[in-house]
Amino acid sequence: MTRPPLVGADIWEAVMAAAGDRCQCMGACGKKHDPDRTRQQQRCRHHNGEHVAKRGRIALIAMPRDPINEGDFVTAASLPSARLIAMCPECHDAVRRVINRAAKKLPPQEDGLFDAEPYISASAKKQADVGAA
Ligand SMILES: [Zn+2]
Ligand SMILES: [Zn+2]
Repeated sequence: MTRPPLVGADIWEAVMAAAGDRCQCMGACGKKHDPDRTRQQQRCRHHNGEHVAKRGRIALIAMPRDPINEGDFVTAASLPSARLIAMCPECHDAVRRVINRAAKKLPPQEDGLFDAEPYISASAKKQADVGAA
């Protein structure tokens, strides 16, 4: 049995029970998860307590189903279990990279949209000067 994380343990258990203790990634990480080369998108086979090369024994991570709109991964513990999915560390990290890459492609936040100098054409300025005289 994999020990649940100390924070949000009951939520984690609910997510893992719903997932059958298996990673629920269906390709969000960019992998096909197709070890048998069926050319079909398949579900990741990693499961709780599995020994994975370079990572050791893994514990699945409960992450938001919709990580872009549900915000940071840190907020996962505050979401109801129905809005979370189980992801193995490998898929989780890859999904995070995909999101970070996408976020970098977004145009930078523009500030000062409404406090920009109003544009006054040269001729309008001349008229205003005439009016002031
Ligand atoms: Zn996975
Ligand atoms: Zn995956």
